[in-house]
Amino acid sequence: FPVENIRNFSIIAHVDHGKSTLADRLLELTGTIDKTKNNKQVLDKLQVERERGITVKAQTASLFHNYEGKQYLLNLIDTPGHVDFSYEVSRSLAACQGVLLVVDANEGIQAQTVANFFLAFEAQLSVIPVINKIDLKNADPERVENQIEKVFDIPSDECIKISAKLGTNVESVLQAVIERIPPPKVHRKNPLRALVFDSTFDHYRGVVANVALFDGVVSKGDKIVSAHTQKTYEVNEVGVLNPNEQPTHKLYAGQVGYLIAGMKDVTEAQIGDTLHLHKQPVEPLPGFKSAKPMVFAGIYPVDQSEYNNLKSAIEKLTLNDSSVTIHRDSSLALGAGWRLGFLGLLHMEVFNQRLEQEYNASVILTTPTVPYKAVLSSSKLIKEYREKEITIINPAQFPDKSKVTEYLEPVVLGTIITPDEYTGKIMMLCQARRAVQKNMMFIDQNRVMLKYLFPLNEIVVDFYDSLKSLSSGYARDKAHSIGKAMCERLKDCLPRQLFEIAIQASIGSKIIARETVKAYRKNVLAKCYGGDITRKMKLLKRQAEGKKKLRKIGNIEVPKDTFIKVLKTQ
Ligand code: GDP
Ligand code: MG
Repeated sequence: FPVENIRNFSIIAHVDHGKSTLADRLLELTGTIDKTKNNKQVLDKLQVERERGITVKAQTASLFHNYEGKQYLLNLIDTPGHVDFSYEVSRSLAACQGVLLVVDANEGIQAQTVANFFLAFEAQLSVIPVINKIDLKNADPERVENQIEKVFDIPSDECIKISAKLGTNVESVLQAVIERIPPPKVHRKNPLRALVFDSTFDHYRGVVANVALFDGVVSKGDKIVSAHTQKTYEVNEVGVLNPNEQPTHKLYAGQVGYLIAGMKDVTEAQIGDTLHLHKQPVEPLPGFKSAKPMVFAGIYPVDQSEYNNLKSAIEKLTLNDSSVTIHRDSSLALGAGWRLGFLGLLHMEVFNQRLEQEYNASVILTTPTVPYKAVLSSSKLIKEYREKEITIINPAQFPDKSKVTEYLEPVVLGTIITPDEYTGKIMMLCQARRAVQKNMMFIDQNRVMLKYLFPLNEIVVDFYDSLKSLSSGYARDKAHSIGKAMCERLKDCLPRQLFEIAIQASIGSKIIARETVKAYRKNVLAKCYGGDITRKMKLLKRQAEGKKKLRKIGNIEVPKDTFIKVLKTQ
């Protein structure tokens, strides 16, 4: 296939603006899939994607299209829109020369539209703005056109207005892909240089690496080397994604496809790695910044006997999602488990759902936290912490306060786009979350774009819900209210014992909340009929001993479901 007839592009957008639906239409229009009423987000193959109606993993499809007497090969990479998965987006963009930036004609530019645009802009890709959903009653494509011109500096006449749902004007999207996106700059005569931009794990065939070829050719039987690990492999299969895998004899520079070469797990096919032929080393392509987990949660089997099954499920799933980090962990209450690091809350939920659906595991997830850093006062450096600065991913690891001079927390730059009438309320919400305003601009007559630096911890769990509801009453210091709520929940869930139980929430040695579960006196005499006084005495004595023993040990039987109720994230 001549390189000048190849186009590699991605579809990027805010969540729900219609990327996957547009991909369906492009697949149909090019005859890649049959046109039926049932083609809904065809590229969303995972069950969790279908149920939640979101794209989690980027997907690739090769389309053939005839245009002005020539046949073109269009490699399309559908990407997730949610911020947690922007790592997937930047990976996909490395294999592309252009993007379709899809914007909903009713909602207009949203936060992820902005974030994804800048990813493409920084990668110096051609951006084709596509205004989608013009069939909607409230669609206002002119307003969105002006927003695009104002925020992205793209002339409004470059916008293509379509309805992906009805297929209106989708033809001109294909035309723009061919006319406005340049072919890849590659050299087929040079030795092989292939970028691994994604990889998945298949139980039967091992790692399936998605590759974009920048130089050369690769065929079945070739000996290839990973520039990252220097390990050598023999290529068992190459092919294109149509969108299902379709083996071919060779892959040429400019093409996007897959490659199977007996790699045992995804750590051997690192995303961002360069593959070259054995004994023909090349300059590796620029890799990617590795994804940094920012949300940590404990994960435990509901039943400890399930530990090994859960372990193998987690291992298998992380084979397909190398952005999750794993540390072994244990908790007095929940037993042995792990502390996993995720890119965000949705990423965590999706991971959990995939564990349940694809591996049949049932787990307890604890409330997520963000990593903190503690700077230790050097005079107080103690043996267990060799470093002056330590990273804490588990609340149980917080060092003694007297040894710490300073705590550092992760902050994120957040973009909020809102109708003007809510600006005041939103600014108050942001302030209550300790955010610092960075920027504010009108993107049209009544829409405002705000940029704030947020402490991640303040927004990770429920910020989006608060933003949506804008309900009142934000506590500045949340520790007390969380502590109080925990104690109250425990009080309600714990069965009463023969003695009083004090429930306290503390930060270090400072008690911030307290509840009491009253003792009840077990009526041991209820079954004692008649006047056998010695038996009565014996029983009462035994009860007293029992109480003493329990009190001394301070031991209470806490039913497991109590822990689940108290610790589980809702
Ligand atoms: P994605 O998150 O960007 O991949 O968005 P999807 O393709 O999953 O679409 C989100 C929702 O918008 C789905 O319910 C689609 O049916 C709907 N949708 C997509 N395109 C259009 C369109 O042109 N018109 C209308 N009315 N709805 C659309
Ligand atoms: Mg999608």
